[in-house]
Amino acid sequence: MSEHYDVIISGGGYAGLCCGLKLASNGKRTLLLEARKEIARKNRGCQCSLYPFGETFTVEGKDITFHQNNFTVKNALMAQLTSVECASGNYTLNTTPSDPMPIIDEGQVKGTLENVCREKGVNISAGTKVKSIETDGQRVRVSADKQYEADYLVGADGAHSLVMRSTPLTRKKIGTFVEMEVEAERMNIPPNGFYAELRNMLAGLYAQPYGEGYMLGVFQGVGPGSTRIDLKEYLEESLHKLKAGGITRRYGCSIPIYLSASSSHYMNILMAGDSVGSFSMVTITGAMLMGLLAGEALLKHMDGMAGAFKEYDKTWRSALQQQNMDRMRSFFFLLKRLNEKRMPRLVKALAGSDLASVGKWYYIKRIPAIVRAFI
Ligand SMILES: Cc1cc2nc3c(=O)[nH]c(=O)nc-3n(C[C@H](O)[C@H](O)[C@H](O)COP(=O)(O)OP(=O)(O)OC[C@H]3O[C@@H](n4cnc5c(N)ncnc54)[C@H](O)[C@@H]3O)c2cc1C
Repeated sequence: MSEHYDVIISGGGYAGLCCGLKLASNGKRTLLLEARKEIARKNRGCQCSLYPFGETFTVEGKDITFHQNNFTVKNALMAQLTSVECASGNYTLNTTPSDPMPIIDEGQVKGTLENVCREKGVNISAGTKVKSIETDGQRVRVSADKQYEADYLVGADGAHSLVMRSTPLTRKKIGTFVEMEVEAERMNIPPNGFYAELRNMLAGLYAQPYGEGYMLGVFQGVGPGSTRIDLKEYLEESLHKLKAGGITRRYGCSIPIYLSASSSHYMNILMAGDSVGSFSMVTITGAMLMGLLAGEALLKHMDGMAGAFKEYDKTWRSALQQQNMDRMRSFFFLLKRLNEKRMPRLVKALAGSDLASVGKWYYIKRIPAIVRAFI
C-alpha cells in the first residue's frame, strides 16, 4: 500500500520549500522528498547574492529578512553585464558597477524555511531521492525509498530535474556554466568592485567583495565546444593579473544552461524553480516566488478552477520577466558563432551603448549593428 497525499513535492530547494509552506499553511497534506541528507546545508557554490527576480514577496518566519529592492531584469543585467569588461584585441567595453548585491546566508535561509515548513505540517523526508514518476492525470505515483501516491506532484528538483525528464515538457540545453570560487586575500581591484572579462565568450572571470576577501568565479559558457580552455589555468592567470594574494578556498560547480520549457505544467504535475530553467536565471528569490505561486495555483485547482495551471504559467513568466529572457533566445544562436574575428566586431557594436536598456527596444534599435558583427 502506498502512502497517499494531496501533493508530493520533489526537491527541497527554495521552490519546493516555499511551495510546501503555502500548501501546508492551507491545510493540505503535503510530502516533500529531498534527495540530500540535509536541506539547510550549503552544498553548492552559490554566492548567495540576492538577485532580483521575484523581489516583491515576503516569507513569514523568524530571521528571514529580504530587502525590498527595486531590482528588475534590466537592473540585473546591468549588474551582471554592464559591470563587465569585455576585451578583445584593441576593443574594450568597460563599465563601473553601482551597488553591490546584498549577500545572504544560504544555510540560514534554507534552514529557516525548513523549520517553518515543519511547523506548518509539511512532511519532510530528507535523504529520499525520487527515482521515477507516473501519472494518469488523476493520481501521481512516485517511487522513492518506497511508493507514494498523490493527487498532484510539484517538480521542484532543480536544473537536472527528473520530473521534467519524465514528462513530455522539453527544455533546450544551450551550454554549460562552470563556476569556481576562491577567496583571495589581497586583490588589486576597487572595493565594492565587480571585475569581469569575457574571452571570446568562452570564459569569464568576476570578483565580488566577500567577507574579508573577494569571491572569484570563472565560467565557461556559450561557445564552440572544441575550444574549451583549462579553467584552473585561466583562474591562476587571472589571479596573477589581478595581483591577488592567493587562493585560500576553492570549489567548483557546473550548471547546465537551458532555455525555459514552453510550458510549466503537464496533467496534474506543476514545475517550479530551476527545473523549468532559463539560462540558469531563475535565482533564489525567483525560485521562492515560483514555489509560492505554484502552491497558490494548486490550491485554486483543488477548488475547481480549471484554468489555474495556465494562469500560473502566465503569472510566473510575467513576475520573473521571463519574456525578456525569451527575447534573448534569438541572441544565443548568434553568440555560439563568436570567435576571434567576430568578438571585436560585437564589442564595437555595443561600445558606448547603455546596456541598461537591454530588452525589446534595445534590441530593435541595435539589431542591425549586432547582426552585422556576426556576419
Ligand atoms: C554555483 C551557483 C551559484 C549561484 N549563485 C546564485 C546567487 O548568488 N544568487 C541567486 O539568486 N541564485 C544563484 N544561483 C541560482 C540559484 O541557486 C537557483 O536558481 C535556485 O537554487 C533554484 O532553486 P530551486 O529550488 O528551483 O532548485 P535547487 O535549489 O537546485 O533545489 C532543488 C532540490 O531538489 C533536490 N533534488 C534533485 N533531484 C532530486 C530527486 N530526484 N529527488 C529528490 N530531490 C531531488 C536537490 O537536492 C535540491 O535540494 C546559483 C546557482 C549555482 C549553481
